[in-house]
Amino acid sequence: MPVNEISKNHKLTEAPMVGDHLAMDLLNTEARSGDKVIDYWNSDADVLRWLQLHGIVPVTGRNLLAAGELLKQAKALRALAHQVISSFKQQNRSDISELNLYLHTYVSAPHLQQDSDGKLLITRISRSEPAGAMLGPVAEAVAQLLAEGSASLVKQCEHPDCILWFYDRTKAHKRRWCSMATCGNRYKAAQFRKKQ
Ligand SMILES: [Zn+2]
Repeated sequence: MPVNEISKNHKLTEAPMVGDHLAMDLLNTEARSGDKVIDYWNSDADVLRWLQLHGIVPVTGRNLLAAGELLKQAKALRALAHQVISSFKQQNRSDISELNLYLHTYVSAPHLQQDSDGKLLITRISRSEPAGAMLGPVAEAVAQLLAEGSASLVKQCEHPDCILWFYDRTKAHKRRWCSMATCGNRYKAAQFRKKQ
C-alpha cells in the first residue's frame, strides 16, 4: 500500500493488509503519510468493511448497536492493543485485565460443518452480542499474539516515515519493510541518492 499516494489523492483506500497477523493489521488501520497520521476508521461502515476483509462476519440485519458505537469500541480496542503489543515487543509486562474484558464478550459455540466433499470439521460460531461477535475475534488475535507469538518477530517497518506493523514469518526472520515495493524501494533509493 503506497501510503505516500494516499495523501496525494486525498482518498482513503483500504487499510494495508501487510501485517501477516490480524493483531498487526489492527494496528495498521492507522498509517502515516508524510507527517500526518491517517486513520482508516472513520465510521461504523469502515470498521465493518475491515472486519469483512479479515473474514469476520459482521452482524447485520438487527440494529442492535447504536450509531457510532462499533467505531468507538473498535478504536478503544485498537488503542489498547497498541499499548499491550508495544509492551510485549519491549518485553515488558502490561495490564491485560482490560483485554480480558473484550475477550469475555466473545461467546462462541462449537459448530459442526460439512465441506463440499462431505468432510466434517468442527469450527466455532459466535453466540455473542454484536460488539462481542465482531470485536471478540480481533481481541482474541491480540491475546494469541501475546501468548503464543514471539516478541522479536513483532516488528515495525524500518522506513522512518512509516509506522506499519507486521509479524515476521519469513524463514530467516529478516523482514524489514511493510512492503518491499513501497518502503523498501523508497529507502534504497534514498540511500543511493545519499551515496551520490
Ligand atoms: Zn513501511
